[in-house]
Amino acid sequence: MSALFPTYKRKQIQLQKGNGTYVYDQNNKKYLDFTSGIAVTSLGHCHPEVVAALHKQSDCIWHTSNLFEIQQQELLAETLVKHTHLDLAFFCNSGAEANEAAIKLTKKFTKKNKIITFNDSFHGRTFGSMSATGQQKIKEGYGPLVSTFLHLPWNDIDQLKKQADNDTAAIMMEVIQGEGGIKIANLDFYKQVQEICEKNDILLIIDEVQTGIGRTGRRYAYEHFGLDPDIVTLAKGLGNGFPIGAMIGKRKLAEAFGPGSHGTTFGGNPLASAVSQSVLNIIFNDEFLNEVARKGKNFKEQLENQLIKLPSVYEVRGEGLLIGIECEEASVLIANLEEKGLLTVPAGKHVIRLLPPLNVTDEELTSALNTILAVFNNKYEKVT
Ligand code: PLP
Repeated sequence: MSALFPTYKRKQIQLQKGNGTYVYDQNNKKYLDFTSGIAVTSLGHCHPEVVAALHKQSDCIWHTSNLFEIQQQELLAETLVKHTHLDLAFFCNSGAEANEAAIKLTKKFTKKNKIITFNDSFHGRTFGSMSATGQQKIKEGYGPLVSTFLHLPWNDIDQLKKQADNDTAAIMMEVIQGEGGIKIANLDFYKQVQEICEKNDILLIIDEVQTGIGRTGRRYAYEHFGLDPDIVTLAKGLGNGFPIGAMIGKRKLAEAFGPGSHGTTFGGNPLASAVSQSVLNIIFNDEFLNEVARKGKNFKEQLENQLIKLPSVYEVRGEGLLIGIECEEASVLIANLEEKGLLTVPAGKHVIRLLPPLNVTDEELTSALNTILAVFNNKYEKVT
């Protein structure tokens, strides 16, 4: 009998060792890891440069309070803002915390209450970020929730136009909904969101917790759609498995986040910051990112060409190495893939989500493709 709260339905697999794209379970069975710990280990497991950064910093000093200057945190903030149009960073430990920071900052800065978010979005499990989330199942039994959030249908510009007004503090969105099922809106939707924000003096908060730090082949997914967010939230891939989150934003917002207005004990401590710096040193590089885009495009095209002819497959979609296969019986297929040594993760009700590390090789992608085709074709034969 486990001494853990039963908050997770866990698989009977214990991953005990990881090396690059591969992980090994308690029976030494080898898997290709196309989950990356749900978009976290973007450089694969135990990347030598990240391990070296962790060792180096752990021999020096792990933690100091944010009451002291932290050089590693300053450097990390500089690196983050250097690669965006944004100016300032606040560090925390997770995606939910990054979104909490964004919500608090928005309310204090705008002095307005209403924040618009979207159905099927996911923003975290803390009270505020859960209230922002547009999925009923996540919120079941926790009401009454924070009343700040108005949830609108995703990709419905008419609804947004009706509801966004001068009393709206912010529009908060994932540009590609991750947990909701790799859902991308129309190009025009993003364009109009930006216009609505500018016209009504509304802040644009982009949750890049899942899509950021190179996952989609650009530093951030918003870059694909020409957006100009005021605030961007990050976590997951930022630390390659070392817990760290961040909120980055425009300089004008600083006035609302003075000393004492927000804080955290651990956020951006020397160890987390040094590890994250080593991650960004590798990922924030145009050659690296172009490779992510190239590999993602090829992989998606190959999946699409081979799978779309099957009646059980509805769509293959995504950007970079965030790819979803919408199909019947996704959970059965995920179990079959796992048995054949390929780990994937569900998204929404009917989507198999593929999240290989960003430095996955072409050979590993081909191997995963072959496994996917074998499992789908087998399933298809059984179905017909
Ligand atoms: N925002 C998005 C888009 C996410 O995908 C997630 C986690 O899946 C979160 C926020 C919450 O992040 P965390 O679990 O680190 O709190």
